[in-house]
Amino acid sequence: MAWYEKSYRRHLADMHIEDWDPEFLRDFSPETYVENLKLAHIESPMIYLQSHVGYSYFPTASGKTHAAMTSDPSPVERLIELCHREGMSVVGYYSLIYNTWAHDAHPEWRMFDRSGKSVRERTPHYRYGFCCPNNAGYREFLKTQIDEIAARFRLEGMFYDMLFWPDLCACPACRERFLRETGREIPEKEDWQDETWLLFHRKRAEWMGEFASFAASYTKEKMPGSTVEHNFASAVAGDWHGNETEWVNDSCDYAGGDLYGDLYNHSFTAKYYLNVTKNKPFEYMTGRCVESLAKHTLTKSERALGLEVMLTAAHHGASFIIDAVDPRGTMDRRVYERIGKVFERQMPYEPLFSRGEHVEDVAVFYSTLGRYDPSGSGFDSKRSSVNAVRTLIKRHVPVGVISNAMTKPLESFGVVAAPSVAGLFPEARKGLLDYVRNGGKLYFSGAGEPGLLREFFGAELLGFTRENRTYVAPRAGYEGYFSEFNREYPMPADVKQMKTRLEKGEVLATIALPYTARDEDRFASIHSDPPGIVTEYPSVVRAAYGKGEAIWSAAPLEAFDSWQYEDIFTGFLKLLGGGACTLTTDAHEGVELVLFREEGGFLLSAVDLLSANEDVNDGSFTVSIRTGSAMQARVFPSGELLPTRYGGGCSTFRVPSLSQFLAITLS
Ligand SMILES: [Zn+2]
Repeated sequence: MAWYEKSYRRHLADMHIEDWDPEFLRDFSPETYVENLKLAHIESPMIYLQSHVGYSYFPTASGKTHAAMTSDPSPVERLIELCHREGMSVVGYYSLIYNTWAHDAHPEWRMFDRSGKSVRERTPHYRYGFCCPNNAGYREFLKTQIDEIAARFRLEGMFYDMLFWPDLCACPACRERFLRETGREIPEKEDWQDETWLLFHRKRAEWMGEFASFAASYTKEKMPGSTVEHNFASAVAGDWHGNETEWVNDSCDYAGGDLYGDLYNHSFTAKYYLNVTKNKPFEYMTGRCVESLAKHTLTKSERALGLEVMLTAAHHGASFIIDAVDPRGTMDRRVYERIGKVFERQMPYEPLFSRGEHVEDVAVFYSTLGRYDPSGSGFDSKRSSVNAVRTLIKRHVPVGVISNAMTKPLESFGVVAAPSVAGLFPEARKGLLDYVRNGGKLYFSGAGEPGLLREFFGAELLGFTRENRTYVAPRAGYEGYFSEFNREYPMPADVKQMKTRLEKGEVLATIALPYTARDEDRFASIHSDPPGIVTEYPSVVRAAYGKGEAIWSAAPLEAFDSWQYEDIFTGFLKLLGGGACTLTTDAHEGVELVLFREEGGFLLSAVDLLSANEDVNDGSFTVSIRTGSAMQARVFPSGELLPTRYGGGCSTFRVPSLSQFLAITLS
């Protein structure tokens, strides 16, 4: 069994420390470090072999050794030995691309923008130096560093950080590679209508994937048996600039990364990792500081940290807590006591983590390469997908997140929603078309995939509206799909909508516009832009395609916040899917229910997302699960029976109380 399969409690202490002051890392104690890990019940620590600063934590010939790590063996080597003695699986940390020492020592390796300057040269006091992954000299240096690590350490795994583009690199290596592979020059400006720009965007993602493969394959060659994980956070974190995609995940034994959004972003990423990871469990990294590690002494409460850990647990993932050492190398013992208490809450549920398959009545298709909005309205695949998942969590619709790289056949999903879809890998575009042709049901929005519009509706694209505040006006007979909106009071959409001429499809709504655009001096109403002109351009259209069906909305209504949009979006999915959910409940919308199916039963987790500070819900609710035969609900792990009745194909039971987290089994 691989080390990660039974390792659900993981840890990292950030150690991006300089060495110009002899105090720095002077008090680093391997013994205290290990004591803290034990206090926190850590099974797998990730330990720094090097950092963004660039200094190695072992004697190196190729780089620079941190002044506090020059002994042989170094304190970090001693730490790893102590962890192994305690039976822990150790992963080594290494920072790619971000290497300030290498940037300063080797100007020829730097990432440059079009001005020919690196960000550290352009920006006063900028702390991070970036080396370009396309630079051959930098790659040779990395090989030597990996050789040194392989010769010195025995590690269960290697973790490589920063597999994304922190700068829009136009260094000689990038220019040469783009010319060689495409016959073109790197485009001068961002333009999502420009074919060369789109090609450059895609190439940067491909190159990052190829660089990930370079690092992983060299590591596996030199450190046989060691796993490789690249930080896969930027597949969700950040916008198109970073351009980390599933091509990086291709080189990861399991998916994991550090993210800093709210609990709905956390849940979204857990669902995404769950479906893209090559091996389970996925790993979700949570910082112990409030907001970010920048708040070095501001620690999350046991309750808040516990909520995040239990949300990962509900998705059967491994939790990974990130701390940061003090410059002197010391750690706050109280943090480890707190993490220990949090993990003591998780431990009884760990036997569930290797069981079952996540139930996903609806799959939200998130395109990592589609983090751009060709209309310029700011609603890209990520923003719209995260909000779609938020809505479905609130409405208790079992939802999964899928992507360009699919580990499950699309046919297994009743309905697929592709919010603001753009940047599809060619095989994924073909996959979606085949899915619908063979009977699948697809909702998608935006104009980022003209190929889908042409295929499903025979659409001719006529350009975006000038107005960026537009409306969706239901046609007569279709008002029932549009909450409280009608032709006189249409649905507002703060986006430019694509005007189209369609050959086929049933038009449910058309585009309506205000009297004037925001870039005109004249206006109708000084505070607002009420609807004034109803056009015949389709805004929502539905068409059969093969044995299946597609609904397209020109405006990403699933991305907007208000109950009306939630009603309309979930209504469209019901219209496509025919209704019957695997799970129905009267639980408060702040309670997330995560359902897994296993042979002969189900596993249900309930997480109160509003409980970071205190329990605000009364905590009782009824759940009905489409079990197909009579099943009995039991609280896990106590085994307490919950009275369960069976009827209409569903087993129904009442949860008497919920305090932050609860697990229930049905069998
Ligand atoms: Zn470059």
